[in-house]
Amino acid sequence: MGRKFIIICASTNHMLNADRILRENHINTELIPTPSQYGSICSTSIMIDEESREKAELLLKENQVNVRGIHEYKERRFLGITKGLSASKEFTDILKKVEQGFELTREDIIKLLRTENPREMEALYNAADKVRKEIVGDVVEIRAAIEFSNYCIKNCNYCGIRRDNKIVRYRMTEEQIMEGVREIQRLGIKTVILQSGEDPWYTPEKILSILRRIKRETGMRITLSIGERSKEEYKLFREAGANNYLLKIETVNEELFKRVHPDDDYHRRKECSVWLRELGYVNGSGNIIGLPGQTAEDIADDILYFKDMKIHMIGIGPFLPAKGTPYENLPPGSVDMTLKAVAVTRLVCKNVFIPATTALATLDPDGHVKALKAGANTIMLISTPPGFRENYQIYSNKNMVDIHKALNAIKRAERKIPKYINLDVIA
Ligand code: SAH
Ligand code: SF4
Repeated sequence: MGRKFIIICASTNHMLNADRILRENHINTELIPTPSQYGSICSTSIMIDEESREKAELLLKENQVNVRGIHEYKERRFLGITKGLSASKEFTDILKKVEQGFELTREDIIKLLRTENPREMEALYNAADKVRKEIVGDVVEIRAAIEFSNYCIKNCNYCGIRRDNKIVRYRMTEEQIMEGVREIQRLGIKTVILQSGEDPWYTPEKILSILRRIKRETGMRITLSIGERSKEEYKLFREAGANNYLLKIETVNEELFKRVHPDDDYHRRKECSVWLRELGYVNGSGNIIGLPGQTAEDIADDILYFKDMKIHMIGIGPFLPAKGTPYENLPPGSVDMTLKAVAVTRLVCKNVFIPATTALATLDPDGHVKALKAGANTIMLISTPPGFRENYQIYSNKNMVDIHKALNAIKRAERKIPKYINLDVIA
């Protein structure tokens, strides 16, 4: 493999603009979280091959992109991650491969996920924690979600807002969404996540109007998580300023996917992620841990899929039963398996954003802290205004993560609060 270089821009807008220009000029790019040694200029940077470097530099200069630096990217070894570890030789040998910069095989991943030995799990979490520290540093990224509609045309068996579930439905107006966005901005947060059920009532025109207004009035980064749409719509949303898109594959096991999604097409779902990537979104995916019949092999395949697809944000949450759904009486996914999946994902995918998920914090009051110590580096707040959020129960008894809970978890995990948070407005 030839040498790789990373381009660090002055802001996310410059970075995304640069990425678009490079790709339009047939340069292969990959978006990665900015390695910790280059600090907090822009949390995402662009990776290119050595042979594209000169052409890229010229193009970015011609197009007046504000580039802060181009550095050689070194595949890192993670010396010391197995230090003091007390685990079986087989388990230690797998972690040693990570230490030496070797790729893990599917078999290795399955072995890591299968362990139930507390000492080995501890060793796995510690290794992932060290790799996380080396790669993305100690700052925990904070993002905030507005769940603007709980109408959904789909009927995913696990989900509390599925079409057939009898719940109170709501749709927020553009003005109500903007109020939520302004509150998030007041906290200093830079990224708003707009999430909803699959709700075609929000036509492309309506979504575009919301995106443009958020951009115009706040300049915030926008993550969309509104399910499957056409490629044309994704393109329009991207052009209007949506930066990231979160569309979880949930499971890559096709048979399991079909079983839990009575009206969803596995190939279409995958295709959507390919489109999002082609359109230059920072691409988010993820899975649910503890779907009925899911095995460690399935989870290993999910992790390898995230790696192959170069997924940039990976949400890994336990299944939680939701009242009124076909799965309401099934047991929740396991906290340990979720943490193991977070840790292995960090070891395998390395340069990615991994949230400590709301679902994990719902299942276990210490879920955020545990995930932050096992490889996670992001927390998502629920900023849906009261009066609406009570009805966005994709699973029952959802933990309404607010800024106080997030800051508390960051402190308990001995991590850093991002500088952009306005601590003085937080009572
Ligand atoms: N409709 C969009 C976004 C809303 S659902 C979509 O499906 O992509 C967002 C996420 O909630 C889903 O990707 C799924 O992983 C998660 N989810 C839904 N119901 C859940 C449950 N009962 N337990 C755990 N996660 C759930
Ligand atoms: Fe709808 Fe998303 Fe829930 Fe499926 S997971 S029912 S698409 S909101």
